[in-house]
Amino acid sequence: MGRTGALESALLDILGRDGLVTGEAAAAYAIAEMTPIAVARPSTVEQVAEVLRLACREGLAVVPWGGGTMMGLGAPPRRYDVALDLRRLDRVLEHEPADLTCTVQSGVAVAALQSRLAQSGQTVGLDPPLPEHATVGGTLAAAIAGPRRYACGHPRDYTIGMRVVLADGRVTRAGGRVVKNVAGYDLCKLYIGSLGTLGVIVEATFKLLPLPRATASLAFAFAAPQAACSVSREVWRRGLPVTAMWLQREGGPYILFLELGGSPGAVARSVAMASELAAAAGGTPAENASPRWQEAMASPARGDTLAVRLSVLPSRLPEALESLAVLGPELTVAFPTVGSAYARWPATVDARSVAGQALHMASALRGTAIVHAWPSASPPPADLWGAAPPAASIMRRIKELWDPRAVLSPGRFVAGI
Ligand SMILES: Cc1cc2nc3c(=O)[nH]c(=O)nc-3n(C[C@H](O)[C@H](O)[C@H](O)COP(=O)(O)OP(=O)(O)OC[C@H]3O[C@@H](n4cnc5c(N)ncnc54)[C@H](O)[C@@H]3O)c2cc1C
Repeated sequence: MGRTGALESALLDILGRDGLVTGEAAAAYAIAEMTPIAVARPSTVEQVAEVLRLACREGLAVVPWGGGTMMGLGAPPRRYDVALDLRRLDRVLEHEPADLTCTVQSGVAVAALQSRLAQSGQTVGLDPPLPEHATVGGTLAAAIAGPRRYACGHPRDYTIGMRVVLADGRVTRAGGRVVKNVAGYDLCKLYIGSLGTLGVIVEATFKLLPLPRATASLAFAFAAPQAACSVSREVWRRGLPVTAMWLQREGGPYILFLELGGSPGAVARSVAMASELAAAAGGTPAENASPRWQEAMASPARGDTLAVRLSVLPSRLPEALESLAVLGPELTVAFPTVGSAYARWPATVDARSVAGQALHMASALRGTAIVHAWPSASPPPADLWGAAPPAASIMRRIKELWDPRAVLSPGRFVAGI
């Protein structure tokens, strides 16, 4: 039996027929031009552990998959034998509304979780693009925060516990199931944003937020980013009950989107106040503008756009947006009080040159930038993640300790990790 046959047979023993995808169907899990030998679809944590034990023993490379909406993020893996599709781990394990916490398996789609929580008037601070597909585990592993970050913070602020299977198959826990549990290092924060290179998240516990009783959406158009950013700052300074806020540009004016939520009275007063602030800064109502932040942030494994994500001090965001505009993106979405922006170009652009200029511009503004999505027709550049961060050597040592045989997503992360 060849290597492929032996691997398939070992996986079949662990997962059964329903849990294994091989042959042409595995092409749906290609990253850049790399297709895995097999796709493992475990339905229990023990199966995840067994697949990883096998991979560690046989020196196989495993790439965890959630909904696939962010699989374009990062370099193609150095090796790629098994795709680990976690969507069959899709149970809500515990939700106690009175405790404001819930524990879910990592393959639950974010939209499914939100609609379950909404039945109890609650929500979780996760807002990835394409939430019908994005899973809880993928959102945490990719550290994706959308326009609700303004109000909710980052997913890492709301994750109080995790169950993680390490590269050698050991099942571990970090944090716990109650809000006040932070004795010891908060390892959840290590896994969040590690892009599946340190462990496979199989469960997460979140603290929850109440859903607002009333909501309102507003949009204002501005000729220049400075005015839009100063309105967002003032909205923040005055403590308006904003639940989401972002700036969007498609070649024309800069549109500031505001979503408000709270008691009906507070929302009505805030709508009036935000409208006054926008008008005083030269903004005009943009009722017909359609939100496109999800498109700006998506990063599928095989796409035909270039996208760059940059982060600067919030005070330098207007300058960054003006420099980006010179590079002619078709869509830009920015989070003003956070200082981050996503810009997209069609595949027809000279991706290498545009990405290089955007990365250079971010560092000239003392910020950082990464290539967030790369057109799959051409090989991506080596510096997708920008310059190696100062902590690169520490990050490498952590990877060597956690995953010495480089089983998990080898080469996908910052500094070739
Ligand atoms: C077991 C435990 C669980 C807790 N759980 C929660 C919780 O779940 N939610 C919550 O909101 N609060 C929780 N708290 C309280 C929370 O940790 C404290 O409110 C917070 O740490 C106090 O912050 P501080 O800025 O006053 O820090 P300080 O009291 O000044 O210092 C805290 C510690 O950090 C060190 N330190 C301070 N500054 C620095 C620095 N610049 N560089 C390096 N080290 C520094 C100090 O030496 C000290 O050891 C918990 C506390 C404990 C002990």
